[in-house]
Amino acid sequence: MIKPSKKDNSPGSALMARPASLVDNVYDVLLGQLMTLQIQPGERLRVDNLSRELGVSQTPVREALSRLEVNGLVIKTHLVGYRAAPQLTKSQFEELFDFRLLLEPTAAARAAAAIDPDKIRRAEMIVQQMAGAHPGNHYRDFAVHDSEFHDYLASLSGNTLIADSLERLHTHIHIFRFYSHARVTQEAIDEHRQIFDKLKQGDPEGTAAAMRSHIEKSRQRVMSVFD
Ligand SMILES: [Zn+2]
Repeated sequence: MIKPSKKDNSPGSALMARPASLVDNVYDVLLGQLMTLQIQPGERLRVDNLSRELGVSQTPVREALSRLEVNGLVIKTHLVGYRAAPQLTKSQFEELFDFRLLLEPTAAARAAAAIDPDKIRRAEMIVQQMAGAHPGNHYRDFAVHDSEFHDYLASLSGNTLIADSLERLHTHIHIFRFYSHARVTQEAIDEHRQIFDKLKQGDPEGTAAAMRSHIEKSRQRVMSVFD
């Protein structure tokens, strides 16, 4: 999941706050460029060039790149340096969707079993934000909200191992990067709404089925690009 920049305003943090938020900013800029393919898969990323283009020193650039490396979006090769990760292959996407199908419907069922009015409000807000993010203009926002919805449901499962495993996949970053541009449709928004409706009713089986159907349809949308 893409985390918003954190601002630390606690007393005594002045020294740390400035560089940390600078790294966050550089990270956000590079993530945006990777997701919208302004930085192409496999493209070489030179620290000195990036630092010049972004008008910052090399330290925050290096830190942002190593964070992206953890997310699997950037690869570091000894003596060569950084380059943008290649797109996931067809079989890597297959594995990703298989893994999600094992975990997400179960997590969704558990979320529905433990639902309450506060959680419903929060989930509804995320669904609405995604519907409000026009894929053409706010392409990245759309991916962020999609990811937020899935991560939130996983967190409601109450199983932190499941939630952490899913979050670490950075599924939505990879999918949106793969789709290149506005191939995101109304379909995904409608599917999230169907999951939400079952969740709101506190219907574990219905929520699991809606989640399974959404992931299977998402898989078909991605796989159709390989045909
Ligand atoms: Zn989704």
